[in-house]
Amino acid sequence: MSQYDSLKVWLDGKMVGYSEATVPILTHSMQYGSGIFEGIRAYPLPDGSAGIFRLSDHMERFVNTARIYGMNLRYTKEELEDAVMEVVAANGLSSCYIRPFAFYNDDRIGLSVKDKKVSVYIAAVPLGNYFSDKNSGIRCRTSSWHRISSSVLPVQAKASGNYLNSIIANSEARRSGFDEAILTSPEGYLAEGPGENIFLVKKGKVLTPGDESDILIGITRDTVMTIARDLGYEVVARQIHREELYIADEAFFCGTAAEITPIVEVDGIRIGQGRPGNVTSRITEALYRAVRGDTVHREWITSVSIAEKVSG
Ligand code: PMP
Repeated sequence: MSQYDSLKVWLDGKMVGYSEATVPILTHSMQYGSGIFEGIRAYPLPDGSAGIFRLSDHMERFVNTARIYGMNLRYTKEELEDAVMEVVAANGLSSCYIRPFAFYNDDRIGLSVKDKKVSVYIAAVPLGNYFSDKNSGIRCRTSSWHRISSSVLPVQAKASGNYLNSIIANSEARRSGFDEAILTSPEGYLAEGPGENIFLVKKGKVLTPGDESDILIGITRDTVMTIARDLGYEVVARQIHREELYIADEAFFCGTAAEITPIVEVDGIRIGQGRPGNVTSRITEALYRAVRGDTVHREWITSVSIAEKVSG
């Protein structure tokens, strides 16, 4: 029994019950972490429909991740976007987290992916705040584990295996009493959180590690850079020294699941006033307007009608 048993998922072109979407235990992607995935949120729009946020950008990253790994998805980006809309509509979820996942659905032993079947599923589930202290801000530690670099694995690909690096950093942080980890590059520059990009605010400027840093190029990161510029802030994406974080006026994580989560302490050092700052709050408000379609960036929203649930 799972909390999701009443939900429907899209599996290789068909809608099936959540509990029917199962795989053999020896499945390649379960053994070796060879799956690829996306995380997308939908927010309720004023007319009651679901607004899927930046669907096209997420699906572009999904198909690009597949290309990087030479994985034949068998579905086009457009077909997968339609499938996401179908899942949201079928589950009647105007607010949800959507998880497209592609994997080697083959249980023959061996690393080689040659001639192994690729399956794709898309699930949509309700999801509240990723961090319980999202509003008051979280306490982080710099991880003793470095972010994987492109010489080891493609960091710009959203592949399951990359998340072992995230999980070991997050576990270390949690075990030592912090809410989340911050990973640095092997050279010591800031990279990102285990599942979030990082931003700093210093003297009214908004800073984030550049594309050359070992980061997943986040879609929320791009949204934040755009809306911060719309609000009139100077935004700079460049390599950032760890100590710049300690002396920042404000810091925050951003990501689809994490949305915007203020960081109020790092390695026991208080950031700014030790509470969510003004710039962070302004950007957060602008993000919530944007996801509900209340900005000039209407193209970010894909609207899906949700059938009214008949009660009684
Ligand atoms: N970095 C990592 C490692 C992530 O897993 C995520 C979440 N997808 C992000 C950054 C933020 O990316 P996005 O805003 O596209 O969700």
